Amino acid sequence: MSCEKEYRSILLDTAKKIAKKYPLEYWMEKDEKCEFAEEFWKDIVDAGFLGILVPEEYGGSNLTMEDLYLVIRTLCENGCGMAGNWYICLTEVFGALPIVKFGTEEQKKKYLPGIVDGKIEFCMALTEPNAGSNTFRIETFASKTEKGFVVNGTKVFISGADRAKGMLLVTRTKKLSEVENKTDGITLFLVDLPNPRVKVSPISKHGINYSHSCEVCIEDLELTENDILGGPQSLHKGWKQLIYVLDPERIVFTAAAIGIGMLAIKKAVEYASTRKVFGEPIGSYQSLQHPLAESYAHLECANLMALEACRVFDSNGNYRELARASNIAKVVAVEAATRAVYWAMQIHGGYGYAKEYHVERWWREINLIRLAPVTQQMALNYIASNVLGLPRGYK
Ligand SMILES: Cc1cc2nc3c(=O)[nH]c(=O)nc-3n(C[C@H](O)[C@H](O)[C@H](O)COP(=O)(O)OP(=O)(O)OC[C@H]3O[C@@H](n4cnc5c(N)ncnc54)[C@H](O)[C@@H]3O)c2cc1C
Repeated sequence: MSCEKEYRSILLDTAKKIAKKYPLEYWMEKDEKCEFAEEFWKDIVDAGFLGILVPEEYGGSNLTMEDLYLVIRTLCENGCGMAGNWYICLTEVFGALPIVKFGTEEQKKKYLPGIVDGKIEFCMALTEPNAGSNTFRIETFASKTEKGFVVNGTKVFISGADRAKGMLLVTRTKKLSEVENKTDGITLFLVDLPNPRVKVSPISKHGINYSHSCEVCIEDLELTENDILGGPQSLHKGWKQLIYVLDPERIVFTAAAIGIGMLAIKKAVEYASTRKVFGEPIGSYQSLQHPLAESYAHLECANLMALEACRVFDSNGNYRELARASNIAKVVAVEAATRAVYWAMQIHGGYGYAKEYHVERWWREINLIRLAPVTQQMALNYIASNVLGLPRGYK
């Protein structure tokens, strides 16, 4: 076995062992009690999973997007469900990834070692009440002052903001009405939390309650040029930095969708193989077999597309190729996983509705990936206009 293959196999073996350590009841309890999974977090930190994309000089293991994707898929499909992705995405994809790529040396030294050893959790504040799918319309504004900037604005659904020590804050430094190209005038800041000028209020939500998604109100927050991701030279140039985060976000959420789908299929197969209603196991009926088999086939195909997206990312490939592969993978994985979880619930009959059978939790989790990080419609819009070349019906 080559060194690389051996390393990968140890990595995935570790991910599987961690996932198996936490029974499904653990996640049911964390979800019901709205509690952060401290023990699980400690295990993934100790395994080095928060530093997969971080260079060795900052404490990481300098591996690839493919490694990150496979670790997340392994955690999710071996029992963690969405939790196998969530904490890693918030801190590694929203924090480590942009800092490794664009951060100044000072920013790398300040944040990366703390991210790897689990002391600095991260969050990303992009979405606003008037700007969800249409990112360009964000209104959070960083006005220039003598000393630097003063920021005002409101963000919504910012996951992990209540615990995070670092926040990737997406602002406008030029108003949308004043720029010729709408990608101009976006600036990303690294903000230390908690901060008296940043008010964080958790929003009660449908699922994934082992993490809080929050409203974040920013009032007269003073920042300097050195707080801009990449320093003063990145002023107004945040769009490029942002898309470098949004495509990988799609990749890791694809891993979650595939993991949740596979988990639901496994549970459905186990149940259908023993449950007898008219004498023989219900799993022998083709009307129940086919949706599971079809979902499984689609999930495996989405997995190949996600691996293609990882390959493009890891080889510093063309942005359009990356966006194409990551949007296709996300759309297909989520449709297949939604179908898998739907049929897992159906196969469980009334028990699928009972919390103790877990499938209803995955139903709540998979439905999030229909909406975030990008809605299914917006991902399809990307394919329709940017890949197929159809005219855009919206501006
Ligand atoms: C639990 C949760 C956690 C989240 N975590 C974060 C986070 O950590 N950080 C962060 O910044 N954001 C986060 N989000 C926000 C998430 O990314 C947005 O909710 C999502 O991008 C959709 O934006 P919206 O909710 O404003 O929907 P809208 O943009 O208002 O869209 C509403 C509906 O209209 C459809 N639609 C809009 N425009 C078009 C069009 N042109 N063509 C077809 N259909 C269209 C959409 O597909 C959708 O179905 C989170 C959301 C949730 C629910």
